[in-house]
Amino acid sequence: RATRGGEEVRGYVPSMGQMFLRRFQMVTQFRQALEEGQVSVHYQPKVSLPSKQVVGVEALVRWVHPEFGKLDPDEFVPAVEAAGLIGVLTGFVLDQSLARARKWMDEGLRVSVAVNLSVRNLADEDFPAKVRQALDRFEVPPELLTFELTESGVMADPQKALPILRELHALGIVLAVDDFGTGYSSLAYLRQLPVDEVKIDKSFVLGMGTDLGDLAVVRSIVELGHSLGLTVVAEGVEEDIARDQLEAMGCDVAQGYLISRPLAEDRLEAWLQARTA
Ligand code: C2E
Ligand code: CA
Ligand code: CA
Ligand code: CA
Repeated sequence: RATRGGEEVRGYVPSMGQMFLRRFQMVTQFRQALEEGQVSVHYQPKVSLPSKQVVGVEALVRWVHPEFGKLDPDEFVPAVEAAGLIGVLTGFVLDQSLARARKWMDEGLRVSVAVNLSVRNLADEDFPAKVRQALDRFEVPPELLTFELTESGVMADPQKALPILRELHALGIVLAVDDFGTGYSSLAYLRQLPVDEVKIDKSFVLGMGTDLGDLAVVRSIVELGHSLGLTVVAEGVEEDIARDQLEAMGCDVAQGYLISRPLAEDRLEAWLQARTA
């Protein structure tokens, strides 16, 4: 049998051992990576659909590893989480984001910042107190901070997650359910969560132009969200036609490559200045 089969020449496929090693290196090097400035936060704008005004940005973590290059957050965030370091990651992203929000306030811009949470953040009883301290330290009002959490994250351990969510909400922080429509979305359950916003998962938004099923899902999430008094955000808006359809449905906020890719802070700054000039 030939050793250079089609599969093998096409590209490098890491073995299990190599993948394990890579993951191991990621978690053991994470703190050092933070100290050395390999990790940063990019920000993706969210715009109001009726007014086209920028209402906020989503903070998305980035890691440029000296050996592996750009790492995908879908790969390293779960690894960092599994290694018990999610508190460190979230703390870093939160501090960076609040420092940005403070700077924008000083420049007269009212832009809220959304930080993604992991399930494990909600297992930390001290998390709300840490967040409150961070808000105080940066002198940012809580209504300018949003936390995005996936439904499955909350559902994993609702007994533990719910009191923490209620505490965060009581502080005045905005809560959003991310990736809505995936997982075992129990609509009844949504009513019991102290949330303000739902984000329609990008898979439906990306598919809505060609798939009537996706379009129906998007439409029903907009209706459901509004009937519960929630702000509805669509992520993954890549095409004009999607934006127009969403606007016609009454979706409140759009986020996606059509508006802007996630940007490094200096590039976002320039983007915001150009937008609000
Ligand atoms: P997410 O929270 O669902 O974030 C949205 C993802 O969609 C981001 O990928 C974003 O870059 C991408 N995206 C935005 N607009 C478009 C679009 O128009 N089309 C398409 N195809 N994609 C779009 P990213 O930055 O690679 O992040 C992936 C996931 O990693 C995030 O999904 C989130 O679950 C996680 N993540 C990223 N940053 C953090 C963080 O600071 N903390 C935690 N816990 N998780 C994070
Ligand atoms: Ca998110
Ligand atoms: Ca999402
Ligand atoms: Ca996601």
